[in-house]
Amino acid sequence: MVQDKVAIVTGGSRGIGAETAKLLAENGYAVCINYLRNDSAAQKIKDEITTLGGHCITIKADVSASEAVSRLFETVDRKLGTVSVLVNNAGILKQQCRLDEISEQRFTEVFQTNVMSCFLCTKEAIKRMSTKYGGSGGVIVNVSSGASKSGSPNEYVDYAASKGAIDSLTRGVALEVAAEGIRVNAVRPGLIYTEMHASGGEPNRVQRLESKIPLQRGGKPKEVAQAILWLATEKSSFVTGSFVDPAGGL
Ligand code: NDP
Repeated sequence: MVQDKVAIVTGGSRGIGAETAKLLAENGYAVCINYLRNDSAAQKIKDEITTLGGHCITIKADVSASEAVSRLFETVDRKLGTVSVLVNNAGILKQQCRLDEISEQRFTEVFQTNVMSCFLCTKEAIKRMSTKYGGSGGVIVNVSSGASKSGSPNEYVDYAASKGAIDSLTRGVALEVAAEGIRVNAVRPGLIYTEMHASGGEPNRVQRLESKIPLQRGGKPKEVAQAILWLATEKSSFVTGSFVDPAGGL
């Protein structure tokens, strides 16, 4: 069934992406949940959305690869209709370490997943949304990180740098397409309790981070999803090229 309100959430099978997919579905969007490996996690979110009366499909695709991204958008065109909201959420974080322990291979993989995916999906979305190409506009929300500002020294400078690139893409693309009916913004979450932090850090890393947060806790995935939903809808109709920081004041 082809719909008017169509959203794609990359990395939508878990964590922040899954909560975002659910909120978009609750707000009347037909949602495509993209993911890379975990079929059962994607199916579980799809079932939850469907049970609540929402419309949802799942597409397994590596959004860091251009052919896979083209196929993903073509499938959405066919099964749901033209995308009106894109949430570039898929991302990876590697083992905590210093710069001298980061290999070229790891640096490339982090940039490929976190930045190339955003670049490729944004291009596909703009081709469909831009009034310049006959589209009727749309919204793109990028999921950056507070790490883009802190630089994450001694932890993940590769990840932080990739999120810095997302911030720059957000601002540049927003200004480039503002006159074509497309808004582009980003969220920069702080510590959020998801599987991303399940491994790869020192044993008490999460507690150490929590102690630095003015609100004295990490955030829930839904607390980021609510900020994404606001940026995705008409409630933020005069906002573009901007950043919302669900980070507990950090
Ligand atoms: P999770 O690790 O919980 O989930 C990551 C999601 O991304 C999964 O759905 C995973 O799919 C998918 N994914 C990974 N690589 C690819 C790929 N190449 N193609 C398609 N899908 C992919 O992450 P979070 O929810 O914690 O994070 C979501 C976003 O928020 C990320 O961009 C992250 O950098 C950012 N962020 C997270 C913070 C946190 O504290 N959690 C803080 C700041 C920012 P699968 O399960 O199939 O592998």
